[in-house]
Amino acid sequence: MSDINTDFPVPAFLHTLLLEQYGEADCARIEAGYQAKRAASFRVNPLRATNKEAEETLSALGLSFSRVPWGESAYLLFGAGERELRRTPLYERGGVYFQSLSSMLPPLFLGAKKGEDVLDMTAAPGGKTTEIAALTENGAHITACEKDAVRFARLRYNVERQGARVNLLQTDALRLDDFLRFDKILLDAPCSGSGTFSADGGGAISPKLVENSAILQKKLLKKAAKLLKKGGELVYSTCSVLRKENEEALFALAGTGLMPVPLEPFGGLPLLPSAEGTVCVCPDALYEGFFVAKFKKIS
Ligand code: SAM
Repeated sequence: MSDINTDFPVPAFLHTLLLEQYGEADCARIEAGYQAKRAASFRVNPLRATNKEAEETLSALGLSFSRVPWGESAYLLFGAGERELRRTPLYERGGVYFQSLSSMLPPLFLGAKKGEDVLDMTAAPGGKTTEIAALTENGAHITACEKDAVRFARLRYNVERQGARVNLLQTDALRLDDFLRFDKILLDAPCSGSGTFSADGGGAISPKLVENSAILQKKLLKKAAKLLKKGGELVYSTCSVLRKENEEALFALAGTGLMPVPLEPFGGLPLLPSAEGTVCVCPDALYEGFFVAKFKKIS
């Protein structure tokens, strides 16, 4: 057994699952990542601001920042500048949006284009919905679906503030009409959060939550497969590093006519071993634990 830092107790069941799945070395990397103090990160929203405007604002505040190589408008913010940036007119008008680096990945892998019908199935608070709108310069026909009323209100707020053009639906994605068809679907599924566990924020994880998440993920995956046009593409993501919610959940796509599309991870991502063509990010001082896989409907 690897040593567990008793000042930072990872729940025994989670430690056991990580150890079984990854072995000692990667289990220790993940658990060290849980304890890391992550730098803040944000996206500049090109629907409301330019990178230049954002950089000028940050420099005027004396804040230390750097561009992330794989993201046109992804930035890291060092030190304690988040509160100051949140008080600026730039932030107020939706010119920047705080979002974890890992969470910015699925829309980049989705690659939605202008004119396409795009569904964000489980969308609140809207980080990825608004990112898709930004990446397509508001030129895609985006539908964003969210079941929870309180979270839906947050989604609406973020969409409006960022000037994103989105058709918002407060509903259970499992109840969407089976006759609907989309070119691209993002299923950023509800999950146990095992990739983002921390002593102060991730305490709710339990075996039951992992179990229930996997059941719901499989249902949502089957629904996504139905709603894709032939030739359309699905990106599935979770902020979990557990096989049960990632590779094993994907078994639900068997017999649905979807084929895996291998992903090329961007340089510099701290990767964990995962099924071929999928990306599993290890939590560390820059990234949250995250999983992404992509599929195309061929029949
Ligand atoms: N993609 C979001 C973002 O980047 O801001 C985060 C999505 S979060 C991981 C999953 C969301 O799915 C939660 O807001 C949850 O309320 C919602 N959800 C759970 N079950 C759902 C369902 N059956 N239909 C629609 N939304 C659902």
